Amino acid sequence: MGSGTEPKGRRNHTPTHIRCRRCGRRAYNVKKGYCAACGFGRSRRMRKYRWSHKWKKKRNLL
Ligand SMILES: [Zn+2]
Repeated sequence: MGSGTEPKGRRNHTPTHIRCRRCGRRAYNVKKGYCAACGFGRSRRMRKYRWSHKWKKKRNLL
């Protein structure tokens, strides 16, 4: 650390995604208010698609 040109613009900003309460992934969009991974906040049902394999594999996500 020293004086000089350090990138100070993007420090300490609020994250776009925080940990989701339902699926535990860091995919809950703060601005939009729903989870990108499981759809929490958008719909009561879990966000899952046939073309998506993640919900098939990972069964016990905290
Ligand atoms: Zn989620």
